[in-house]
Amino acid sequence: MVDELTGDTRVAVVVVGAGPAGASTAYHLASVGIDVLVLEKAQFPRDKICGDGLTPAAVHELILMGVDTTGWNRNRGLRVIGGGHTVELEWPDQKSLPGYGMTRARATLDHELITRAVQVGARLVEGATVTAALQDSSGRVVGVTAKIGKGAHARLVEIRADLVVDCGGVAARLATSVGIEKKPERPMGVAARTYFRSPRGDEDFMESHLELWSGKPGESDLLPGYGWIFPMGDGIVNVGLGSVASTANATKLPYRQVFETWMRNIPEEWGFSEAHQIAPLRSAALPMSFNRSPHYTCGLLLVGDAGGMVSAFNGEGIAPALKAGRFAAQCIAQALSRADRRGVDRAMSQYPQMLKAEYGGYYQLGRIFVSLIENPRIMRLCTTKGLPIPRLMTFVHKLLSDGYERAGGDLDDRIITALTRLVPSA
Ligand SMILES: Cc1cc2nc3c(=O)[nH]c(=O)nc-3n(C[C@H](O)[C@H](O)[C@H](O)COP(=O)(O)OP(=O)(O)OC[C@H]3O[C@@H](n4cnc5c(N)ncnc54)[C@H](O)[C@@H]3O)c2cc1C
Repeated sequence: MVDELTGDTRVAVVVVGAGPAGASTAYHLASVGIDVLVLEKAQFPRDKICGDGLTPAAVHELILMGVDTTGWNRNRGLRVIGGGHTVELEWPDQKSLPGYGMTRARATLDHELITRAVQVGARLVEGATVTAALQDSSGRVVGVTAKIGKGAHARLVEIRADLVVDCGGVAARLATSVGIEKKPERPMGVAARTYFRSPRGDEDFMESHLELWSGKPGESDLLPGYGWIFPMGDGIVNVGLGSVASTANATKLPYRQVFETWMRNIPEEWGFSEAHQIAPLRSAALPMSFNRSPHYTCGLLLVGDAGGMVSAFNGEGIAPALKAGRFAAQCIAQALSRADRRGVDRAMSQYPQMLKAEYGGYYQLGRIFVSLIENPRIMRLCTTKGLPIPRLMTFVHKLLSDGYERAGGDLDDRIITALTRLVPSA
């Protein structure tokens, strides 16, 4: 979109960042006629380091955004490999979730999602880096300052808004600038990915490898994480690995070395030679289990990675970002109808409540899961003894991919729901 910002722009809602969180928030706001401005520091199409995997939970959100996914690469489920076993787990067709997943390169996906938001009326300014929050004398966030453009042509603008949404990803620059720090005792992941051309790039299962060794395979420790090979279609695969730790300080994964060791053990038919590698191996952090909160305070909301919404079970962050954006927009729409700030805050207090109801217990289970698999002996037990038990793996598949029905459903769904209620909310 053309940069039409003046020195003193005023909008109902300003959204910082146009990743999945920002696009979803903006789409759902604009679709009920709310004036929403999205500021994005990059220019689209832009890349984002990611596995590009979309579970049924993410597909569910794409459907609610009316995104046309004709021709997108679909998959039937997950093939899990470890401890000498290979298990194929189809995505279950649920009441509330479709029985398929997808892969979509983020350079394309994110552009398509924000374009969808613009189609329904959101305004987007690219090349706009938000530098700070504007606060009134009570500390309430009443807008942002942004640097538009680069170099000699850069200029600073102030944008005032009734509500400000930080969708700026793991750095959460805006939230940090007003003192909302990340919680070091929550899980944090680190992951790295690259792309290869491969004769198996059109397969319809995403593959997950549970044996990532800290050193020599079989003679060192199993890392708490997994390697993935996600077919993207058109003869391309996204290949990467990730590891998780129960605190923010413990993710010093020597990922290049682990990646090289893992690659040496991948079957040749994948064709993972240097000549077929079409992108560098690059890494980024995954903020998990609500590692930054409050998700609403004094005019400012956090959505997606900015609010630490990645699942510690599988490293998935797109579905939670899209869903939280929808929740945020619902609450904002109500809040903007209130007569004064107290009313706005009362309506907005629903947003963290909705997040807790949806993910609070589930993310707490994720924290327990991480603290268990951090023990290499437990990780080994899971791969050697757990994987070959089909009944157990059907349950684990639903649990790890957030593929369970929150209400009703079968025995597995009810057990997972009961477990999420037994633990305190994350
Ligand atoms: C290696 C790796 C693999 C992963 N694989 C998967 C996967 O397969 N499936 C999955 O679901 N999740 C995966 N994730 C997690 C997923 O990438 C994130 O959870 C997801 O991108 C979060 O979306 P978001 O919109 O919150 O943030 P982002 O996608 O990071 O978007 C933030 C946006 O804000 C912009 N921005 C930042 N600061 C500013 C600023 N100051 N001013 C203006 N704009 C700003 C950025 O340019 C960016 O466009 C993976 C993560 C990693 C690191």
